[in-house]
Amino acid sequence: MNITVFTIFPEMFAGPLNASILRRAQDQGLLGVEIVNFRDHAVSKHRNVDDEPFGGGAGMLLKPEPIFAAFEAIAGPKEDYKGKVILMSPQGVPFTQEIAAGLAAQQDLAIICGHYEGFDERIRRLADVELSIGDYVLTGGELPAMVVIDSVSRLIPGVLGEEESHRSDSFSEGLLEHPHYTRPREFRGMTTPDVLISGNHEEIRRWRRKESLRRTWLRRRALLETAKLTPEDRQLLDEIYGEEEGDEPRFSR
Ligand code: SAM
Repeated sequence: MNITVFTIFPEMFAGPLNASILRRAQDQGLLGVEIVNFRDHAVSKHRNVDDEPFGGGAGMLLKPEPIFAAFEAIAGPKEDYKGKVILMSPQGVPFTQEIAAGLAAQQDLAIICGHYEGFDERIRRLADVELSIGDYVLTGGELPAMVVIDSVSRLIPGVLGEEESHRSDSFSEGLLEHPHYTRPREFRGMTTPDVLISGNHEEIRRWRRKESLRRTWLRRRALLETAKLTPEDRQLLDEIYGEEEGDEPRFSR
């Protein structure tokens, strides 16, 4: 996958892109990231990329010309671009694991980072989708872009060591993931569940599924309304409901 990022703060990307899995993915040729400073494409003498809002008001807005010029110089005319163009914005669609999985199937992505008070409305015309990483406002689109790059990259086949390792991640199947334990078996009086060292694969599978459902029930109940639940899941939820709420079965009916 090739990702092109349009930003006026390219230096912000160096840390995350040069460590851990993202570095390895680039070294393996599975991921290519090009960081483009759209200030280099500004036409004015002082290379201005921002200006005051028409109508007055606080803050500066990113101007359309440098961003359109940068995009067209690197990716060509928008209508010919085969990938998806993402605009980072707190007003965008909330970013989810499902959206990340969809983007991971693309060959090319372009990400535009806003800054200051935001961007001139006409910049929206370049975007196929606007993504928000949450209901809060950051200084710029650089950190949100890195969030998108990280979460999408780890879903590209071959990027994670074991192909399996993202399948049971939280949200992959609409549920939170089950708890994990490692050595030592006992730490400061806290023990680990016997079932996990029983060697009984079926019991371990059932325990993990049940604890995944329990965690989702206790922490993110609304996810259960859209998760694909099997008859076994409903049975397990009834057990959890009895254990946690002390109530009658209600899921398998
Ligand atoms: N005035 C804008 C508004 O209220 O919608 C916010 C501008 S914000 C200070 C500057 C830039 O940071 C935005 O244009 C966007 O690119 C990025 N940004 C800030 N918060 C974000 C979020 N939650 N998700 C995605 N991008 C965000």
